[in-house]
Amino acid sequence: MFRIRLSSFHSCGYSYAILCWGLFTLYCIWFQATRLYSYWLRQQRIKGIDRQPFVMPGTSLYKKCDFLVRIPFVTNLIAAKHIVGVFILCVVNVLWSLWAPFVYTDAGWVLPAVGLMDRRLAFIAMVNWDFAIIFGTRNNIITHMSGLTYESLIPFHRWLGRLGLAEYVLHVVWRIIAGYQRTHVVADSLFRNTEYTTGTISTLGYLLMYLTSFEYVRRNHFEVFYYSHIFGFIIGTAFACWHETTCFLYFIPCIIFWLLDRAVRSYRSWFVKSTPIRVDETVAQTATQEGILRVLFEQNGFNNFAPGQYGFFAIASKANKWWQFAFASNWRPFTISEIFRGKKSDVASTNSKEIEERVMSGEKKNEKGHSEDSLLNFDINTPEGVSQLAQLRRRAPGVSAPNSEESILATVHIKGLGNYTRRILRAAAAGDDFAVKVDGPYGTKLDYRDHKVIACYALGIGATPAMTLIKDCVERRAAGVKTVTTEHIYFIWCVRVSEEYTSFMDMLAYWNEKCKSAILPISLTVFIHVTRQKSGENLLEGYPGSDVFYGTRPDIPGYMQMIEDEEKQRGRDHSHVYVHTCGTDDFMRTVWNTALKHDWDTHRETFDF
Ligand SMILES: Cc1cc2nc3c(=O)[nH]c(=O)nc-3n(C[C@H](O)[C@H](O)[C@H](O)COP(=O)(O)OP(=O)(O)OC[C@H]3O[C@@H](n4cnc5c(N)ncnc54)[C@H](O)[C@@H]3O)c2cc1C
Repeated sequence: MFRIRLSSFHSCGYSYAILCWGLFTLYCIWFQATRLYSYWLRQQRIKGIDRQPFVMPGTSLYKKCDFLVRIPFVTNLIAAKHIVGVFILCVVNVLWSLWAPFVYTDAGWVLPAVGLMDRRLAFIAMVNWDFAIIFGTRNNIITHMSGLTYESLIPFHRWLGRLGLAEYVLHVVWRIIAGYQRTHVVADSLFRNTEYTTGTISTLGYLLMYLTSFEYVRRNHFEVFYYSHIFGFIIGTAFACWHETTCFLYFIPCIIFWLLDRAVRSYRSWFVKSTPIRVDETVAQTATQEGILRVLFEQNGFNNFAPGQYGFFAIASKANKWWQFAFASNWRPFTISEIFRGKKSDVASTNSKEIEERVMSGEKKNEKGHSEDSLLNFDINTPEGVSQLAQLRRRAPGVSAPNSEESILATVHIKGLGNYTRRILRAAAAGDDFAVKVDGPYGTKLDYRDHKVIACYALGIGATPAMTLIKDCVERRAAGVKTVTTEHIYFIWCVRVSEEYTSFMDMLAYWNEKCKSAILPISLTVFIHVTRQKSGENLLEGYPGSDVFYGTRPDIPGYMQMIEDEEKQRGRDHSHVYVHTCGTDDFMRTVWNTALKHDWDTHRETFDF
């Protein structure tokens, strides 16, 4: 029978839950207040009043705590403030397990008996897991309220998961000992009665989750990690609720969040139509680099896309039946490298009868069957289609406000870094047809537009998030959009061989053109470092202040000092520089920590969750 035990364990658990939700709510209120303030600043700018953003006292010190460090065998990137945060959380957990709900009696503060402590810890563990599970979902109201996105919450998902597991293990070990001591029969320590048996099965479920979450499994057998995580969670939680019915109270909120997330993801992936338009191998694989593939697709679910965001993609060659089968289960994250907005087109239509019907209904078509004013009124599916993307870029800028009447085309650039991506690359080189599904967009809506200077530091394919940022700023300044204050953009890009940047040259040429004809002033300086070639062409001649360097790595502190000096020459003492970085952990750590020394705002995009 369903029964909730209102025990001291429960009061310990729920008081801890109230503390956590209370603190989190305060954080959300603070975040929403800062959003309102940014909105007000932009409104002022539209009226022609350029106010300097208010900087809270202590901001500089707080920013210094963002310093990134590496903890060997644990994580490559963690901010100093998060280490402090995790430490405080552990201390709070210990205090709660000892004294919650903090009732002062005539006998003073009463410590519970040791035999009860393990169950108090198990209840606290459930609250930690509640948060861990919610932080591991992609779509939830919490990300909207707090501004913390899926990828920024994933590290907390892991920390809370580990902390909860440590507490849960203490409960399990203590109960195994207690079970054994009763009868001195080994089996009784695990399967003495229904309570023990369900507890044991639940533990096995959670252990499966934990053991398959190690970095090695995640990086080398992602699907094993992913599906064990879901299976382990369902088994662990179902049997935990059977083991102790009060667990329902704790798990129900996160189960609701999880189910809603699954529903939104399924809807986006299977019901919002994605149409692949072209899949091209833009850089063929060679002995020195892995090759790059570009997917151009139409996805109207990207209406609210913000530069720097990414999506989860399932891409399969139609030629391979096994791939078709695996299609539904192989999702990979890729950043949108470019977006084109335009009038709703008939891009997706390949059905000649349908085209004919629309022509008869009076809609004017060109010879390829597209509306004259649609995004693709030329046939992109020709061998010249690759260069025609340049035409698309020039006729479909991404500056219009999101609107449901427009068509959204987007590209992702994919490097052949692993088995799956290399397989798609090979299929694209062979000219296969593809099926594409997209779940997204995800990721932070970045605040770069409020900064006078943006500096993007990218490594290899890590340039894709920077590309949408730069394109957005350049196009908006070119169109005279006053809410974008950026006047100078620096793009420092490190690649191994020149093919990795030459395939993006048309994009760079387009930015350069836009800067020259911009209504509001904007300058772009590009420095490309080709590390594994001693010499080569300089395709950036004619780009003011820009250069290509062969055989050298970028001097990150040197570039930052250069930007600071140039800012001083422009008469701005405290420069408002926004630094964006994407690359390996070591690269991002150097960029990030150096930027903090300059007291600049920073954002990093990780390509490894
Ligand atoms: C936010 C984000 C944006 C990215 N953007 C790009 C991009 O624009 N271009 C590009 O070339 N690469 C990008 N990557 C990297 C890209 O996702 C990986 O290179 C790709 O998944 C490798 O797949 P593979 O199976 O070929 O390689 P494998 O080596 O077999 O793949 C395993 C690796 O992929 C990761 N991975 C696989 N599936 C998922 C998933 N569903 N969620 C999270 N991680 C997963 C694993 O953790 C592991 O590191 C991005 C990664 C992230 C996290």
